[in-house]
Amino acid sequence: MPNEPLNLPKADILVIDDTPENLNLLSAMLTEQGYKVRSVTKGSTGLRGANAVPPDLILLDVNMPEMNGYEVCQQLKASDRTREIPVIFISALGDVLDKVKAFAVGGVDYITKPFQLEEVLARIENHLTIWKLQQQLQAQNERLQQEISERTKAEEKFAKVFRSSPNPIAIATISEARFIDVNPSFLKMSGYSLEEVIGDTANELNLGKNTTATSNDKPLGVYTQTIQLLPETGSLYNLEFEFSTKSGELKTILISLELIDLGGVPCALLIANDITERKRLENEFISLVSHELRTPLTSTMGALDLLGSGQLGTLSEQGQKVLSIATTNTERLIRLVNDILDLERMKSGKIFTRKTKCNAADLLIMATEAMQAMADKLQVRLIINPVEVELWADPDRLLQTLINLLSNAIKFSEPGDTVWISATLSESRSVESEENQPSLPKYLLITIQDEGRGIPEDKLQIIFERFQQVDASDSRNKGGTGLGLAICRNIVQQHNGKIWVESILGKGSTFYVLLPLPALQ
Ligand code: ADP
Repeated sequence: MPNEPLNLPKADILVIDDTPENLNLLSAMLTEQGYKVRSVTKGSTGLRGANAVPPDLILLDVNMPEMNGYEVCQQLKASDRTREIPVIFISALGDVLDKVKAFAVGGVDYITKPFQLEEVLARIENHLTIWKLQQQLQAQNERLQQEISERTKAEEKFAKVFRSSPNPIAIATISEARFIDVNPSFLKMSGYSLEEVIGDTANELNLGKNTTATSNDKPLGVYTQTIQLLPETGSLYNLEFEFSTKSGELKTILISLELIDLGGVPCALLIANDITERKRLENEFISLVSHELRTPLTSTMGALDLLGSGQLGTLSEQGQKVLSIATTNTERLIRLVNDILDLERMKSGKIFTRKTKCNAADLLIMATEAMQAMADKLQVRLIINPVEVELWADPDRLLQTLINLLSNAIKFSEPGDTVWISATLSESRSVESEENQPSLPKYLLITIQDEGRGIPEDKLQIIFERFQQVDASDSRNKGGTGLGLAICRNIVQQHNGKIWVESILGKGSTFYVLLPLPALQ
């Protein structure tokens, strides 16, 4: 029974034998098995045929006149076109088959007559299979080579971009936030050498502190935290950080982070942008503009007051309306300019806190009294829970902070809502002396809680940055400047305290101010 259907030739076999009986026998046998068979009686004809259309396998008689089988095989192996074709030698009974020579000239096997049908077929099948596998292997190798060369090219391209990028770039592991590679721009910005950076964390190199609200907590952990949280946060773009160079110079940088997989190790790709100079110019510009605006704004306000007083004539109803709009807007502008100047002076250390002994309860009461009119107007209830404790603080600055937080709580509430301002003493770090004295309160925790619109989670930190508002329309609709919380944070930090917010969208927000008590200062 043939192995394959006859109408589908399995392989193309060329038989070269000078004995017609052998040829006929082999041809009939192989054709019956489904092979396509070409038979020739001369070596030279066989070579021409193999060259014209290379067969899949050649059966080659050893003893032939003109050119014997070894010579034919040698010539086949000498040509690129026929070199790979497997050759099986056939020797007749009584012929002396030089097996060593047969293999030496490139034969893959030999068969001796008389033929055993199964044996001939088995050998042919075997060699065809080996040959096919070899072909496949070769094709696969070529493909792999191609892939390797393409990948090498891509890696070279990436390495070039990485090395020559003007932006500082670093790669750090997620698990420990250790640097595994940084580019020359990063080294230039940091002042460190490659050896000093590789294997270290940003903490170990003291690279920076964050500018966000909770930065006082872990001033050096911000890079590590940001890197390690990357799988949860996903890609981050243009985060502003402070960056401390090896020589201690402080730079401002924007960083974008991307999660990448390096051979199965999750890593963070950090691309930085040094904006120190831009930031300096921006600050200079802001303070210049603010100073220049203050004088004309004050005189505009004076002129508006004069118009409103009626000393220059009575205004029509329409005129009163226009005057009131102009006054509101001018007041807002003056507030904005004052806030900017305040913040700039605080940042550059030109405003010193004047600390004295003061009472926390007094401050809470004064802040509530100052905001009562606004609360009444917006129909918001104010509830105060003060605590009597002595603080070592700048009362004016703390009052400014509480008023700001209360004013936000009121303006982001709805009529009928309540705002609570409370204070509690906290013993978060209890230290007992050797005489076993009871532990003393160490901190004052002030909370300002509202039932207003709440703050989205991704804005909880950013609103403490200057000009950051949850909604771009907040300054227009609520009359704010986006600077209040930045000022509050600055003041609280100057008291070695901490400020943060917790919020549930639609349910309300609670701002916390934690201040150390005198014994700790
Ligand atoms: P503003 O002058 O705009 O109030 P702030 O720095 O005080 O500036 O506040 C920044 C932004 O934070 C506000 O514009 C508002 O979007 C948000 N915000 C502050 N406090 C609250 C609050 N209690 N409830 C809801 N959003 C608030």
